Amino acid sequence: MYVTGLKCRNCGKEYPIEPVSICEECFGPLEVQYDFDRIGEAISKGGIERGPRSIWRYKALLPVGERVVDLNPGYTPLHRAENLARELGMEELYIKNDSVNPTFSFKDRVVSVSVSKALDFGFDTVGCASTGNLASSVAAHAAKAGLKCYIFIPANLNLGKIIQTLAYNPNLIKVEGNYDDVNRLCTEVAGYYNWAFVNINLRPYYSEGSKTLGYEVLEQLGWEAPERIVVPVGSGSLLTKIYKGYKEFERLGLVEEVSTKVTAAQAEGCSPVTTAFRTGGEIKPVKPDTIEKSLAIGNPADGYYAVRVLKETGGTAGAVTDPEIIEGIKLLARTEGVFTETAGGVVVGTLKKLVEAGEIERDEKTVIYITGNGLKTQDVLLGHVPEPVKIRPDLKEVEKLLSAGREIKYEKEVAQWQ
Ligand SMILES: *Cc1c(COP(=O)(O)O)cnc(C)c1O
Ligand SMILES: [Zn+2]
Repeated sequence: MYVTGLKCRNCGKEYPIEPVSICEECFGPLEVQYDFDRIGEAISKGGIERGPRSIWRYKALLPVGERVVDLNPGYTPLHRAENLARELGMEELYIKNDSVNPTFSFKDRVVSVSVSKALDFGFDTVGCASTGNLASSVAAHAAKAGLKCYIFIPANLNLGKIIQTLAYNPNLIKVEGNYDDVNRLCTEVAGYYNWAFVNINLRPYYSEGSKTLGYEVLEQLGWEAPERIVVPVGSGSLLTKIYKGYKEFERLGLVEEVSTKVTAAQAEGCSPVTTAFRTGGEIKPVKPDTIEKSLAIGNPADGYYAVRVLKETGGTAGAVTDPEIIEGIKLLARTEGVFTETAGGVVVGTLKKLVEAGEIERDEKTVIYITGNGLKTQDVLLGHVPEPVKIRPDLKEVEKLLSAGREIKYEKEVAQWQ
């Protein structure tokens, strides 16, 4: 372990490694500190390349000890997206497909680090306030680690995410209200019961897991940084930490100078970070109103730092409507064979919009982060995919169906679960 302590991002006050996340002086967020000189001596490109095929190949840069709760998160594919690039008139586009993690979202990266830390600290109970994907990931890791588990979710979550979470057998509690209400409640619960809430009192450790989505892309591009990345934003932690990962590899000499323009993607129905960036103002909390639930955080904890990264890197931010999210999901599936959830629809929709607006240049080497799996939010596609045609098992029926042309004419769209 190369961790030296925690430090307030705001006033710089230092703290030992404990389950705390907020500075007692100024209420700023605490961040893990490392001894980079020693890390620099210990790691190399070759050493990383020979490491485990999971986020643990970057263990020296994570705040975990020897023992980790391991469902094998990370090491997900980076696809060259030639078809989507052609459709958008772009030259070099890649998809980081993080929807194929153990519980089918990038959250396994942050949860494996924070649940491992909960074990180190001696907690017997873990929990979270979730917008959906965190719920299933925490429940799965708690099951693997044999920890008690309490999950709090907003009442209106996608059915697919609720069913997946329940299968891992946690205590699941629906709260009447939105994510910000759930989060406020969980902050009180964590203190009252002394439980490890991965994204509340363990947040400094949790958020470090997202750096691996930065490291991995640099390694997969042959130890080189892309010119542009597009990242979905909820709390803003993922975006901030991907960029932190890029800068750490630069500092360690594993990549040359990083000049990546970081770009945020949000749903119009919940876009406090995009709005703050585009208007040049502060983050103004909003009440989410969108089909996109995994990013529906109206008062983003790391929003300020995310906007700062956008400005610092010469990046930008965009937002898309609900129909554009659905179009984005279908566009990615149709062109690249990758089925993503609503967060990925936001990313693809935002990419398209910003390319068409000329804010993303068509010749920039671009990576888009696809962070969740389409099977989790199939409900949003009801009414937007065709109802399959039904025939008798008879060749004549097939002939009749195709007689008007080689493609089937669908008459209506799937309106409900079969
Ligand atoms: C949680 C989540 C995000 C956003 O992460 P933040 O760190 O809250 O900004 C993006 N995509 C998916 C699929 C998520 O579940
Ligand atoms: Zn402080």
